[in-house]
Amino acid sequence: MACRTGCKTKDHASWAECARAANPTIAATANSAKRDNYDLTRKELKSYKDARSAGIQPEGTTMDKINEAKAATKALGRPYNADSDPPARFIATKKAAQYVNRIGDSA
Ligand SMILES: [Zn+2]
Repeated sequence: MACRTGCKTKDHASWAECARAANPTIAATANSAKRDNYDLTRKELKSYKDARSAGIQPEGTTMDKINEAKAATKALGRPYNADSDPPARFIATKKAAQYVNRIGDSA
């Protein structure tokens, strides 16, 4: 038997032919993953732009970094700036934010 276990037609001459016949499904799955990735990137870029226009400087353009920067902004009471502030994930609490703000004031 040349066909793979999951083959529906069981009429392929070789395992390779059988695998090729199954490829359209695999290709479609890969394409949809690529599209999801593309949508995510667009969403990230939009969020990044929104953050930047609000005066926030995230550490990066990924959703994680943008969300961290937004949370830090909320905690700090001012736009987070990755260039002068500690990593945003350390500013998740009000207490940490107050500490960061104090350092900023005395600098
Ligand atoms: Zn087959």
